[in-house]
Amino acid sequence: MTDRYAVIGNPIGHTKSPLIHGLFAEVTQQDLVYTAIEGRIGQFAADVDAFRAAGGRGMNVTAPFKLEAFAYATERSPRAQMAGAVNALKFEDGRVIAENFDGVGLTRDVVHNLGCPLKGTRVLVLGAGGAARGALLPFLEQQPATLVIANRTLEKAEALAKEAAAHGPVSACGYADLEGRRFDIVFNATSASLRGELPPVPASVFEPGALAYELAYGKGLTPFLRLARQTGVDRLADGVGMLVEQAAEAFAWWRGVRPETGPVIERLTVPLT
Ligand code: NDP
Repeated sequence: MTDRYAVIGNPIGHTKSPLIHGLFAEVTQQDLVYTAIEGRIGQFAADVDAFRAAGGRGMNVTAPFKLEAFAYATERSPRAQMAGAVNALKFEDGRVIAENFDGVGLTRDVVHNLGCPLKGTRVLVLGAGGAARGALLPFLEQQPATLVIANRTLEKAEALAKEAAAHGPVSACGYADLEGRRFDIVFNATSASLRGELPPVPASVFEPGALAYELAYGKGLTPFLRLARQTGVDRLADGVGMLVEQAAEAFAWWRGVRPETGPVIERLTVPLT
């Protein structure tokens, strides 16, 4: 019987997940269908219950339901616990097992696809929302020399740094405190780019030869990437690789086979111009 999977979010019209998982299923010859569900606000549990009752085996979860998925789960991985949010669910008998693959997908994209090891580097993360939370443990596992979280709302960055302190050299600051500091890798994990805005990051944060990574994807040259380019940074990336890598992690977790990601990333890449 064909197994059923889906991504749930609201809105969901923009999602690339059915395309990505469809391509993965094709190349790995897995018998499954993967659809998109527009979840009803306030009705997350009922919508997931209905999908499970109809034979659903697993789900990806996107905004605004990542916290509700955390609450819905009966078991949560350490990554999901650190993130406080869930982007993948697996249904086994009565169990609802929760994972968060965003951070591991991002790390894999940076280290493997872009050939940029985090070990021993100075890493700056802009933003302290869900994506930053999810990235923290996978980043620290790579043993950077320092990891600084800068956020508009300083308390959120401080709380996150405190939570992760046992796992590595992580600290928090406001944007103004970044003056005079330089980093080898700068991640824009704010949602500013989704509105064409630039977080108030000083242009001086980029070390010559730095990588500037925008977590948003498909937006071309965002204000953050433009700032990096203007300061002479030529290693620019957006989150398309992260998107495809987190999908591959979920696919492997559900199906026991990891699809090749390169051709799918290539297919979804929008030029950074
Ligand atoms: P959240 O809403 O959880 O967090 C948003 C963060 O952005 C907060 O830290 C907020 O600061 C900050 N922020 C928003 N606007 C501005 C601004 N104008 N200036 C400075 N800071 C700002 O979002 P997510 O963490 O879920 O998403 C963050 C980004 O990551 C988005 O672009 C999203 O598209 C991308 N993403 C990409 C994925 C991929 O697969 N490629 C997967 C998941 C996310 P404050 O706390 O002060 O409000």
